[in-house]
Amino acid sequence: MVAANGGRVRLKPAALLRCPMIPQVDRWVATVIEPAARRNFGISVAEIKVAGSYACRPMNNKVGGNLSEHGHANALDVSAFVLADGRRITVKNGWRGSWSERAFLRAVHKGACAQFSTVLGPDYDSNHHDHFHVDLMRRGRCGERRVCK
Ligand SMILES: [Zn+2]
Repeated sequence: MVAANGGRVRLKPAALLRCPMIPQVDRWVATVIEPAARRNFGISVAEIKVAGSYACRPMNNKVGGNLSEHGHANALDVSAFVLADGRRITVKNGWRGSWSERAFLRAVHKGACAQFSTVLGPDYDSNHHDHFHVDLMRRGRCGERRVCK
C-alpha cells in the first residue's frame, strides 16, 4: 500500500498488507487522521511514516513468542505523520508534546479503534512508546473482542 485517501496521503515506506487491511487504513486516514489534522493544525497530512508492516517475527521480537499479526501482513505500525507544510508529528515526542500534538495523536489513536480490532499506543507498554500498532486479529469466539489501549 503506497497511498491512502484517494492517493493524497503517502505511506512511506510502502506497507505490505493483506487486502482486508487496505480499506481499513484508507478509512482511518480519510475519516480520522485527515479531519484531526485539519482540526488541530489547520492543514492536511501529506505522509504517514510506516515503522513496520509485514515482518516474519514473533511478538515484540521475543524468541519463542507467538507469531505477531505482522507475520500475517495484518498489522501496521505508524511512527509519525508529516503535514503538508513539512511539519512532522511523531508518536514518540508528540504523545506528551504540545497541546495540539497531544489532541491530534489521541484523536488518531481513538479513531483507529473503530477501524481495527487491535490498537496499541504509548499508554499500552514501553514497546509502543514511539508508534501506534493497529491490526485486524480476530479475538473472541466470533471475532467480537477488541483491544484499544
Ligand atoms: Zn506492531
